[in-house]
Amino acid sequence: MQIYKVGGAVRDRLLGRPVTDIDWVVVGASTEEMIAQGFKPVGADFPVFLHPRSGEEYALARTERKSGRGYGGFVFHASPDVTLEQDLIRRDLTINAMAEDAEGEVIDPYGGRADLEARVLRHVSPAFAEDPLRVLRVARFAARYAPLGFQVADDTLALMRTLAESGELEALTAERSWKEISRALMEARPDVFISTLRRCGALEKLLPEVDALLHVNGDHVLNVLQRCADEQTDLPIRWASLLRNVADLPGCNIDTIDTLNRRGKVPRDCQELSRLVGEFHGPAAAATALPPADLLDILQRFDVYRRPQRLEDFLQVEHINAQALGSNYPQTAYLRGATKAVRDVQPAALMAKGFKGAALGEALSAARLEALETFKREYTQ
Ligand code: ATP
Ligand code: MG
Repeated sequence: MQIYKVGGAVRDRLLGRPVTDIDWVVVGASTEEMIAQGFKPVGADFPVFLHPRSGEEYALARTERKSGRGYGGFVFHASPDVTLEQDLIRRDLTINAMAEDAEGEVIDPYGGRADLEARVLRHVSPAFAEDPLRVLRVARFAARYAPLGFQVADDTLALMRTLAESGELEALTAERSWKEISRALMEARPDVFISTLRRCGALEKLLPEVDALLHVNGDHVLNVLQRCADEQTDLPIRWASLLRNVADLPGCNIDTIDTLNRRGKVPRDCQELSRLVGEFHGPAAAATALPPADLLDILQRFDVYRRPQRLEDFLQVEHINAQALGSNYPQTAYLRGATKAVRDVQPAALMAKGFKGAALGEALSAARLEALETFKREYTQ
């Protein structure tokens, strides 16, 4: 059997980027031989094994054939007579379809090296159009490698458009899509991910609400995303920034954000922050003018007593949004001050006065309201 490094490890070494995980392909071996050598099989459908010591993934060289709609509609054929070239041709991009042997020699039947040098993301073969996940993958690689000058080849973008128009994107599970979306949003240029999906018509299918938002205010949204990456913010900040104005679109409201989040099986922290931002960015912008009772309601909704970080995350989204508009977010100091005022109200002091149960709850609310009234008076003086 011959063993080769493949995919990302070869690509990133040639690019001079750090290599994190290594995928291997094994040519000329059977499942039985792999097991006899101590490899541990993983998964029933795929001829993939874990190395007994390194734990890295070793896959038998395989061919594949489309058998149905959507992701998973593939029949694999792995056997000792499948060649390295046959295995590489089923891969998504030429830069991902290179292998490296034990001597460090690069095997590059589909021009991956030339495309690396030319900074082009190009599909390997027309079979690219058989797997809709590749639309998301290519947009994700575009986001990652944009700082190096990479661009999607025109004919690859055309295939992505064909996939988007075919309705196959809808066959992707929410889990698969979110995995790509969340990884892509954490890349160096998340704005390039979104604009690439938009250019091939995939955004309209995957995130129609965001597509609609881009029609209204595209440059701003993309600018905000890029700033999120420049400031190395975490995923909930990026997601909430992307959805910030979705509820303000004609015919939309805060339920639009909930529906989108549920449909996409978005994790809870991203769901919560995007909802808070969607619902409260308007009232918070007018914070200094709000009656204390309304301000108290908002702070309660943020649960600033138990989860003060959520307000900080909200403020970061608003700060970045304001910066993209060439201004700043002066409400930050006011909202932090108001939060401190209500957090400083001590339940223990009221309990010592004999309040308990529902009466304690009411007394707490009244004390917090009073604290906010005092804070507002002092702040505006
Ligand atoms: P990353 O740095 O994100 O891990 P990678 O290129 O290593 O990038 P993996 O998802 O680890 O990506 O996949 C390893 C290799 O398998 C890819 O380089 C590519 O050759 C191939 N591959 C993975 N997913 C697909 C797919 N959906 N269609 C075609 N080829 C794929
Ligand atoms: Mg990898």
